[in-house]
Amino acid sequence: MTTTLSFEALGLAAPLLQAVQALGFEKPTPVQAEAIPAALQGGDWMVSSQTGSGKTAAFLLPVLHSLHLENEQNPPARLPRPAKGGWVPRNAAPAAPRAVVLCPTRELAQQVAADAIDLVRGSRGLRVATVVGGMPFGKQLADLQGASLVVATPGRLLDLAERKQILLDAVQVLVVDEADRMLDLGFAEDLEAIHTLCAQRRQTLMFSATFAPRIMRLAAQVMREPGRLELATAQDKHVNISQTLHWADNLSHKRALLDHWLRDVALEQAVVFTSTQADADMLADTLQQTGHAAVALHGAMPQSVRNRRLQNLREGRIRILVATDVAARGIDVPSISHVINFGLPMKAEDYVHRIGRTGRAGRSGTAITLAEHRERHKIRAIEQFTRQPIAASTIAGLEPTPPKPREPKFNARPGQRPGRDGGRPNHHRGGPGRPGGGRPEGGRKFGGPRRDAGAQEG
Ligand code: ADP
Ligand code: MG
Repeated sequence: MTTTLSFEALGLAAPLLQAVQALGFEKPTPVQAEAIPAALQGGDWMVSSQTGSGKTAAFLLPVLHSLHLENEQNPPARLPRPAKGGWVPRNAAPAAPRAVVLCPTRELAQQVAADAIDLVRGSRGLRVATVVGGMPFGKQLADLQGASLVVATPGRLLDLAERKQILLDAVQVLVVDEADRMLDLGFAEDLEAIHTLCAQRRQTLMFSATFAPRIMRLAAQVMREPGRLELATAQDKHVNISQTLHWADNLSHKRALLDHWLRDVALEQAVVFTSTQADADMLADTLQQTGHAAVALHGAMPQSVRNRRLQNLREGRIRILVATDVAARGIDVPSISHVINFGLPMKAEDYVHRIGRTGRAGRSGTAITLAEHRERHKIRAIEQFTRQPIAASTIAGLEPTPPKPREPKFNARPGQRPGRDGGRPNHHRGGPGRPGGGRPEGGRKFGGPRRDAGAQEG
């Protein structure tokens, strides 16, 4: 392992080393120690490592380092600071960034841009701009003037490219964060279009905690013989996150279990995931009525509301965020101590990303999953994906009713061949109370429509 390596040993430009120090990063995390030298060496890379392991700096540092080198070789023309109020001169040249980072949600793009801004403090001539949908164009266009790094969601970036307000010809490096999410259905076309517009680039980097096999095939289409770095992944146990499953009889039982956990004094802040936007709104209302400082977050809200709510969570003004999978990827709020799956995720891999909102940067976290008996196939799909059982537990006074043994289909007399079920009650096949039991089933994911437009952002 190279984890004892220092940031200095990575050969990064001095202002970046100072910035890293100012952030209090003592040494590179394992993914940083591996991915930074790889990216600096050149070529395309696909990098996976666990949630909360420091992937953002693992791609930002090499990208910013290359921008430093280029700045030394061709000092940029001195540009006036963007005018206040988002005013852009009529004859302004279109923005021509040299690096682009793509993110699947607006919140994540804003967070990554904020991280990049922290890292370029003290770097003269390096400007970072954020390009996301749902926000006014004016300020974004003003910020784009002279920006060498643009952090964007795909829709708005393509929009600006079509209007010729941004040129992607000069892009040298394209980074795709949460790449598997981006390549998944909704974004494959946008990514293909951006890939074509950034035709001159030298390097493509893709990062995620999970890369399903279907994603590897898609990724190969926009990369050139990518190298692969795989640090602790979804199948390695996330030692920082304790995971528990509670079986519930019905919705009101789930609510009672949720209420129990939310009253836990060890709970600093929590994200409660629901399956649909309507569920998020309803549950947040119910929680408020029962005295919890909770708000909802999902893709159908105005972006200004989404931003304010996430900011309130970051600043500790709210304790509970009730969210759809729009908050499942990338969001880094270190004080989130608990993740509670109130509604199960659509895809097994989303479970890994959801629980990864806690236990960040080596902290410990708690992930609670509430499932009704009829959802046990989803629990099995998650356990197959992570290749680990989620330990089932009960809370005194809130135990689930044991599932009733099903009547045997026909009386299995001695010597008679049993039916498909072996004539046994259903719970022998690893249902509630027997996590991880049962035979493996075919698919790794469960299909169906996406339940949050957050997957499709501009
Ligand atoms: P990931 O993208 O892998 O989920 P992030 O890049 O969001 O993880 O980083 C998770 C947290 O770890 C952030 O709060 C970040 O500030 C912190 N972090 C990143 N690198 C280091 C480091 N080298 N030392 C200490 N903390 C770090
Ligand atoms: Mg990340």
